[in-house]
Amino acid sequence: MNDDTRIDFSHKQDILTGSCLAVDKDPEILSLRPTRFADYIGQTEVVEALKIAIEAAKQREEPVDHILFHGPPGLGKTTLAHIITHEMGGNLTTSSGPSLEKGGDLIGILTHLEDRDILFIDEIHRTPKIVEEFLYSAMEDFAVDFVFDKGMHARSHKYRLNRFTLVGATTRVGLLSAPLRDRFGIFRSLDFYSQPNLVEIIKRSAVLLKVTIDDEGATELAKRSRGTPRIVNRLLKRVRDYSQVRADGIITKKTVEAGLSLEGVDEKGLTDLDRRYLKTIIEFYKGGPVGIEAIAATLQEETDTLVDVIEPYLLKMGLVTRTSSGRKASEEAYKHLGLSFQKRMFQ
Ligand code: ADP
Repeated sequence: MNDDTRIDFSHKQDILTGSCLAVDKDPEILSLRPTRFADYIGQTEVVEALKIAIEAAKQREEPVDHILFHGPPGLGKTTLAHIITHEMGGNLTTSSGPSLEKGGDLIGILTHLEDRDILFIDEIHRTPKIVEEFLYSAMEDFAVDFVFDKGMHARSHKYRLNRFTLVGATTRVGLLSAPLRDRFGIFRSLDFYSQPNLVEIIKRSAVLLKVTIDDEGATELAKRSRGTPRIVNRLLKRVRDYSQVRADGIITKKTVEAGLSLEGVDEKGLTDLDRRYLKTIIEFYKGGPVGIEAIAATLQEETDTLVDVIEPYLLKMGLVTRTSSGRKASEEAYKHLGLSFQKRMFQ
Protein backbone atom coordinates (compact mmCIF):
# COMPACT_ATOMS: atom_id res chain seq x y z
CA MET A 1 0.00 0.00 0.00
CA ASN A 2 1.29 3.52 -0.58
CA ASP A 3 0.28 7.02 0.32
CA ASP A 4 -2.60 7.08 -2.16
CA THR A 5 -4.70 5.92 0.77
CA ARG A 6 -4.17 9.27 2.43
CA ILE A 7 -7.28 11.06 3.30
CA ASP A 8 -6.94 14.75 2.86
CA PHE A 9 -7.66 17.58 5.24
CA SER A 10 -7.55 20.47 2.85
CA HIS A 11 -8.90 22.99 5.29
CA LYS A 12 -5.41 24.34 5.61
CA GLN A 13 -4.32 26.85 3.04
CA ASP A 14 -0.85 26.51 1.68
CA ILE A 15 0.74 29.83 2.38
CA LEU A 16 2.75 29.59 -0.80
CA THR A 17 0.57 28.14 -3.48
CA GLY A 18 -2.97 28.25 -2.19
CA SER A 19 -3.20 24.48 -2.42
CA CYS A 20 -3.45 21.97 0.40
CA LEU A 21 -0.53 22.35 2.75
CA ALA A 22 -0.50 19.11 4.63
CA VAL A 23 -0.60 16.67 1.73
CA ASP A 24 1.60 16.76 -1.35
CA LYS A 25 -0.42 15.70 -4.37
CA ASP A 26 1.87 16.85 -7.16
CA PRO A 27 3.46 13.61 -8.48
CA GLU A 28 6.71 15.44 -9.25
CA ILE A 29 6.92 16.67 -5.64
CA LEU A 30 5.98 13.22 -4.34
CA SER A 31 8.81 11.70 -6.33
CA LEU A 32 11.25 13.76 -4.23
CA ARG A 33 10.26 12.04 -1.00
CA PRO A 34 13.18 10.00 0.40
CA THR A 35 12.36 6.33 1.02
CA ARG A 36 15.55 5.34 2.85
CA PHE A 37 17.42 6.80 5.80
CA ALA A 38 20.41 7.34 3.51
CA ASP A 39 18.45 9.96 1.57
CA TYR A 40 16.85 11.61 4.60
CA ILE A 41 18.93 14.70 5.25
CA GLY A 42 19.40 16.28 8.71
CA GLN A 43 17.48 15.54 11.94
CA THR A 44 20.45 13.34 12.83
CA GLU A 45 19.47 12.60 16.43
CA VAL A 46 15.95 11.56 15.44
CA VAL A 47 17.30 9.35 12.67
CA GLU A 48 19.87 7.75 14.97
CA ALA A 49 17.27 6.97 17.63
CA LEU A 50 14.93 5.47 15.01
CA LYS A 51 17.64 3.34 13.44
CA ILE A 52 18.44 1.83 16.85
CA ALA A 53 14.77 1.19 17.68
CA ILE A 54 14.17 -0.43 14.29
CA GLU A 55 17.27 -2.58 14.41
CA ALA A 56 16.44 -3.78 17.94
CA ALA A 57 12.84 -4.56 16.99
CA LYS A 58 13.97 -6.49 13.93
CA GLN A 59 16.40 -8.55 16.00
CA ARG A 60 13.58 -9.43 18.41
CA GLU A 61 11.21 -10.05 15.49
CA GLU A 62 8.75 -7.58 16.96
CA PRO A 63 7.09 -4.48 15.60
CA VAL A 64 8.86 -1.26 16.49
CA ASP A 65 7.33 0.71 19.39
CA HIS A 66 4.58 3.22 18.60
CA ILE A 67 6.15 6.51 17.53
CA LEU A 68 4.91 10.08 17.86
CA PHE A 69 6.43 12.87 15.75
CA HIS A 70 5.87 16.48 16.58
CA GLY A 71 6.73 19.56 14.51
CA PRO A 72 5.45 22.13 12.03
CA PRO A 73 4.14 20.97 8.63
CA GLY A 74 6.60 19.98 5.92
CA LEU A 75 9.53 18.96 8.14
CA GLY A 76 9.47 15.26 7.23
CA LYS A 77 7.13 13.44 9.63
CA THR A 78 5.25 11.59 6.87
CA THR A 79 8.52 10.87 5.12
CA LEU A 80 9.83 9.17 8.26
CA ALA A 81 6.71 6.99 8.37
CA HIS A 82 7.51 5.87 4.80
CA ILE A 83 11.13 5.17 5.69
CA ILE A 84 10.21 3.20 8.83
CA THR A 85 7.82 1.10 6.74
CA HIS A 86 10.52 0.45 4.18
CA GLU A 87 13.01 -0.56 6.91
CA MET A 88 10.49 -2.84 8.66
CA GLY A 89 9.45 -4.40 5.36
CA GLY A 90 5.70 -4.03 5.99
CA ASN A 91 2.90 -2.02 4.40
CA LEU A 92 1.96 1.56 5.16
CA THR A 93 -1.60 2.65 5.72
CA THR A 94 -2.12 6.36 6.10
CA SER A 95 -4.97 8.33 7.53
CA SER A 96 -5.56 11.51 9.48
CA GLY A 97 -7.26 12.37 12.75
CA PRO A 98 -10.08 14.50 11.28
CA SER A 99 -10.97 11.89 8.64
CA LEU A 100 -11.61 9.20 11.27
CA GLU A 101 -15.10 10.28 12.15
CA LYS A 102 -16.49 7.09 13.67
CA GLY A 103 -15.00 4.21 15.63
CA GLY A 104 -15.91 1.96 12.69
CA ASP A 105 -13.62 3.92 10.37
CA LEU A 106 -10.64 3.11 12.57
CA ILE A 107 -11.66 -0.51 13.25
CA GLY A 108 -11.94 -1.08 9.51
CA ILE A 109 -8.36 0.07 9.09
CA LEU A 110 -6.98 -1.74 12.15
CA THR A 111 -8.46 -5.12 11.26
CA HIS A 112 -6.78 -5.01 7.86
CA LEU A 113 -3.28 -4.43 9.21
CA GLU A 114 -0.79 -7.24 8.93
CA ASP A 115 2.00 -8.16 11.31
CA ARG A 116 4.57 -5.33 11.57
CA ASP A 117 2.59 -2.99 9.29
CA ILE A 118 2.71 0.73 9.96
CA LEU A 119 -0.41 2.82 10.51
CA PHE A 120 0.33 6.51 10.06
CA ILE A 121 -2.17 8.98 11.50
CA ASP A 122 -1.47 12.59 10.63
CA GLU A 123 -2.89 15.39 12.75
CA ILE A 124 -3.51 12.79 15.40
CA HIS A 125 -4.46 15.51 17.91
CA ARG A 126 -7.63 16.07 15.87
CA THR A 127 -8.87 12.49 16.23
CA PRO A 128 -12.38 12.52 17.72
CA LYS A 129 -12.46 11.29 21.33
CA ILE A 130 -14.79 8.40 20.50
CA VAL A 131 -12.30 7.09 17.92
CA GLU A 132 -9.30 7.79 20.10
CA GLU A 133 -10.64 5.45 22.78
CA PHE A 134 -10.37 2.50 20.35
CA LEU A 135 -6.73 3.36 19.86
CA TYR A 136 -5.90 2.76 23.53
CA SER A 137 -6.44 -1.01 23.54
CA ALA A 138 -5.30 -1.32 19.93
CA MET A 139 -1.96 0.23 20.85
CA GLU A 140 -1.54 -1.48 24.19
CA ASP A 141 -2.97 -4.98 23.70
CA PHE A 142 -3.31 -5.22 19.90
CA ALA A 143 -7.05 -5.74 20.38
CA VAL A 144 -10.29 -3.84 19.89
CA ASP A 145 -13.61 -4.34 21.62
CA PHE A 146 -16.62 -4.49 19.33
CA VAL A 147 -19.94 -3.78 21.00
CA PHE A 148 -23.03 -5.44 19.46
CA ASP A 149 -26.59 -4.33 20.14
CA LYS A 150 -27.55 -1.71 22.63
CA GLY A 151 -28.87 -1.39 26.18
CA MET A 152 -29.44 -4.60 28.12
CA HIS A 153 -28.69 -6.77 25.03
CA ALA A 154 -25.32 -5.18 24.49
CA ARG A 155 -22.50 -7.71 24.10
CA SER A 156 -18.88 -7.04 23.49
CA HIS A 157 -16.39 -9.11 21.57
CA LYS A 158 -12.63 -8.70 21.73
CA TYR A 159 -11.07 -8.80 18.29
CA ARG A 160 -7.37 -9.54 18.17
CA LEU A 161 -5.27 -7.45 15.82
CA ASN A 162 -1.97 -8.18 14.16
CA ARG A 163 1.00 -6.51 15.86
CA PHE A 164 1.36 -3.17 14.13
CA THR A 165 3.13 0.11 14.81
CA LEU A 166 1.23 3.35 15.08
CA VAL A 167 3.13 6.38 13.84
CA GLY A 168 1.37 9.57 14.85
CA ALA A 169 2.21 13.05 13.63
CA THR A 170 1.10 16.26 15.26
CA THR A 171 1.76 19.95 14.94
CA ARG A 172 0.38 20.47 18.46
CA VAL A 173 1.48 17.96 20.99
CA GLY A 174 -0.17 19.98 23.78
CA LEU A 175 -3.59 19.10 22.35
CA LEU A 176 -2.97 15.37 22.61
CA SER A 177 -4.71 13.70 25.54
CA ALA A 178 -2.42 12.23 28.20
CA PRO A 179 -3.68 8.62 27.78
CA LEU A 180 -2.91 8.71 24.07
CA ARG A 181 0.45 10.47 24.48
CA ASP A 182 1.55 7.97 27.11
CA ARG A 183 0.96 5.02 24.80
CA PHE A 184 3.72 6.09 22.44
CA GLY A 185 7.04 4.48 23.34
CA ILE A 186 9.03 6.91 21.20
CA PHE A 187 8.39 10.64 21.02
CA ARG A 188 10.50 12.90 18.81
CA SER A 189 10.24 16.56 17.84
CA LEU A 190 11.45 17.68 14.44
CA ASP A 191 13.08 21.09 14.22
CA PHE A 192 13.51 23.51 11.33
CA TYR A 193 16.44 22.56 9.08
CA SER A 194 19.81 24.30 9.06
CA GLN A 195 20.99 26.13 5.94
CA PRO A 196 23.59 23.46 5.01
CA ASN A 197 20.94 20.73 5.34
CA LEU A 198 18.52 22.70 3.17
CA VAL A 199 21.22 23.23 0.54
CA GLU A 200 21.81 19.47 0.53
CA ILE A 201 18.08 18.82 0.08
CA ILE A 202 17.94 21.38 -2.75
CA LYS A 203 20.86 19.74 -4.53
CA ARG A 204 19.32 16.28 -4.17
CA SER A 205 15.95 17.50 -5.46
CA ALA A 206 17.62 19.42 -8.33
CA VAL A 207 19.29 16.20 -9.50
CA LEU A 208 15.97 14.32 -9.36
CA LEU A 209 14.17 17.14 -11.20
CA LYS A 210 17.05 17.34 -13.71
CA VAL A 211 17.66 21.06 -13.19
CA THR A 212 20.96 22.86 -12.75
CA ILE A 213 21.40 25.14 -9.76
CA ASP A 214 24.67 26.81 -8.78
CA ASP A 215 25.97 27.08 -5.19
CA GLU A 216 24.89 30.69 -4.71
CA GLY A 217 21.45 29.90 -6.09
CA ALA A 218 21.07 26.95 -3.71
CA THR A 219 22.16 29.08 -0.73
CA GLU A 220 19.74 31.86 -1.62
CA LEU A 221 16.89 29.38 -2.05
CA ALA A 222 17.74 27.76 1.29
CA LYS A 223 17.58 31.17 3.01
CA ARG A 224 14.10 31.75 1.70
CA SER A 225 12.62 28.35 2.47
CA ARG A 226 11.59 28.81 6.11
CA GLY A 227 13.80 25.93 7.21
CA THR A 228 11.27 23.53 5.64
CA PRO A 229 11.98 20.81 3.05
CA ARG A 230 8.44 20.91 1.62
CA ILE A 231 8.84 24.62 0.91
CA VAL A 232 12.31 24.02 -0.55
CA ASN A 233 10.84 21.62 -3.10
CA ARG A 234 7.90 23.85 -3.99
CA LEU A 235 10.06 26.93 -4.43
CA LEU A 236 12.63 24.98 -6.40
CA LYS A 237 9.92 24.18 -8.94
CA ARG A 238 8.89 27.84 -9.14
CA VAL A 239 12.43 29.09 -9.72
CA ARG A 240 13.01 26.31 -12.21
CA ASP A 241 10.10 27.68 -14.26
CA TYR A 242 11.37 31.24 -13.90
CA SER A 243 14.93 30.34 -14.91
CA GLN A 244 13.67 28.37 -17.89
CA VAL A 245 11.46 31.15 -19.24
CA ARG A 246 13.35 34.32 -18.23
CA ALA A 247 16.97 33.06 -18.25
CA ASP A 248 19.07 30.24 -19.68
CA GLY A 249 17.54 27.52 -17.48
CA ILE A 250 20.31 27.55 -14.87
CA ILE A 251 19.15 28.54 -11.40
CA THR A 252 21.37 31.26 -9.94
CA LYS A 253 21.12 33.70 -7.03
CA LYS A 254 19.68 36.25 -9.45
CA THR A 255 16.95 34.00 -10.80
CA VAL A 256 16.06 32.83 -7.27
CA GLU A 257 15.68 36.46 -6.13
CA ALA A 258 13.64 37.46 -9.16
CA GLY A 259 11.53 34.30 -9.28
CA LEU A 260 10.68 34.38 -5.58
CA SER A 261 9.89 38.06 -5.45
CA LEU A 262 7.19 37.26 -8.02
CA GLU A 263 5.88 34.67 -5.55
CA GLY A 264 5.85 37.28 -2.77
CA VAL A 265 8.60 35.45 -0.86
CA ASP A 266 11.09 37.92 0.64
CA GLU A 267 14.75 37.54 1.64
CA LYS A 268 13.86 35.98 5.00
CA GLY A 269 11.41 33.59 3.33
CA LEU A 270 8.37 35.43 4.65
CA THR A 271 5.21 35.33 2.56
CA ASP A 272 2.42 37.82 2.22
CA LEU A 273 0.49 36.18 5.06
CA ASP A 274 3.53 36.35 7.40
CA ARG A 275 3.93 40.04 6.67
CA ARG A 276 0.22 40.72 7.14
CA TYR A 277 0.37 38.87 10.46
CA LEU A 278 3.29 41.02 11.66
CA LYS A 279 1.73 44.24 10.34
CA THR A 280 -1.52 43.41 12.12
CA ILE A 281 0.28 43.17 15.47
CA ILE A 282 2.33 46.30 14.80
CA GLU A 283 -0.18 48.61 13.15
CA PHE A 284 -3.49 47.39 14.50
CA TYR A 285 -2.43 46.39 18.00
CA LYS A 286 0.51 48.79 18.50
CA GLY A 287 3.08 45.98 18.62
CA GLY A 288 1.13 43.80 21.09
CA PRO A 289 0.72 41.95 23.31
CA VAL A 290 -2.39 40.72 21.56
CA GLY A 291 -4.26 37.41 21.70
CA ILE A 292 -4.11 35.03 18.75
CA GLU A 293 -7.91 35.06 18.36
CA ALA A 294 -7.86 38.83 17.85
CA ILE A 295 -5.10 38.57 15.23
CA ALA A 296 -6.99 35.78 13.43
CA ALA A 297 -10.22 37.80 13.44
CA THR A 298 -8.47 40.87 12.03
CA LEU A 299 -6.75 38.83 9.33
CA GLN A 300 -9.86 36.75 8.67
CA GLU A 301 -7.75 33.61 8.89
CA GLU A 302 -8.22 30.46 10.93
CA THR A 303 -6.46 30.50 14.29
CA ASP A 304 -5.13 26.98 13.58
CA THR A 305 -3.44 28.13 10.38
CA LEU A 306 -1.70 30.94 12.22
CA VAL A 307 -0.63 28.74 15.14
CA ASP A 308 0.44 25.71 13.08
CA VAL A 309 1.81 27.28 9.93
CA ILE A 310 2.67 30.94 10.40
CA GLU A 311 3.88 31.35 13.97
CA PRO A 312 6.46 28.57 14.43
CA TYR A 313 8.86 30.10 11.92
CA LEU A 314 8.28 33.69 13.05
CA LEU A 315 8.98 32.59 16.64
CA LYS A 316 12.07 30.73 15.52
CA MET A 317 13.32 33.82 13.67
CA GLY A 318 12.67 36.00 16.73
CA LEU A 319 10.23 38.22 14.81
CA VAL A 320 7.48 37.57 17.28
CA THR A 321 7.44 36.56 20.95
CA ARG A 322 4.75 34.77 22.92
CA THR A 323 4.05 36.14 26.38
CA SER A 324 1.39 35.24 28.91
CA SER A 325 -0.64 38.24 27.74
CA GLY A 326 -0.34 37.51 24.01
CA ARG A 327 1.87 37.90 20.95
CA LYS A 328 4.35 40.77 20.62
CA ALA A 329 6.27 41.91 17.54
CA SER A 330 10.02 42.17 18.15
CA GLU A 331 12.25 45.08 17.16
CA GLU A 332 13.56 42.82 14.38
CA ALA A 333 10.03 42.57 12.95
CA TYR A 334 9.72 46.37 12.76
CA LYS A 335 13.12 46.52 11.05
CA HIS A 336 12.20 43.80 8.58
CA LEU A 337 9.06 45.65 7.56
CA GLY A 338 10.93 48.99 7.40
CA LEU A 339 8.99 50.48 10.32
CA SER A 340 10.40 52.60 13.10
CA PHE A 341 10.46 50.72 16.40
CA GLN A 342 10.99 53.75 18.69
CA LYS A 343 8.34 55.84 17.00
CA ARG A 344 5.76 53.08 17.31
CA MET A 345 6.56 52.50 20.98
CA PHE A 346 5.59 56.05 21.95
CA GLN A 347 2.51 56.39 19.83
P1 ADP B 1 5.29 16.50 7.17
O1 ADP B 1 4.68 15.14 7.21
O2 ADP B 1 6.14 16.80 8.37
O3 ADP B 1 4.28 17.60 6.89
P2 ADP B 1 6.60 15.49 4.80
O4 ADP B 1 7.24 14.26 5.34
O5 ADP B 1 5.37 15.31 3.97
O6 ADP B 1 6.33 16.56 5.96
O7 ADP B 1 7.74 16.26 3.97
C1 ADP B 1 7.45 17.10 2.88
C2 ADP B 1 8.43 16.87 1.76
O8 ADP B 1 9.70 17.37 2.14
C3 ADP B 1 8.66 15.40 1.43
O9 ADP B 1 7.86 14.98 0.36
C4 ADP B 1 10.12 15.31 1.06
O10 ADP B 1 10.27 15.44 -0.34
C5 ADP B 1 10.74 16.50 1.72
N1 ADP B 1 11.52 16.14 2.90
C6 ADP B 1 11.08 16.14 4.18
N2 ADP B 1 12.07 15.81 5.01
C7 ADP B 1 13.17 15.60 4.25
C8 ADP B 1 14.53 15.24 4.56
N3 ADP B 1 14.95 15.09 5.81
N4 ADP B 1 15.40 15.10 3.54
C9 ADP B 1 14.98 15.31 2.27
N5 ADP B 1 13.72 15.67 1.92
C10 ADP B 1 12.83 15.80 2.89
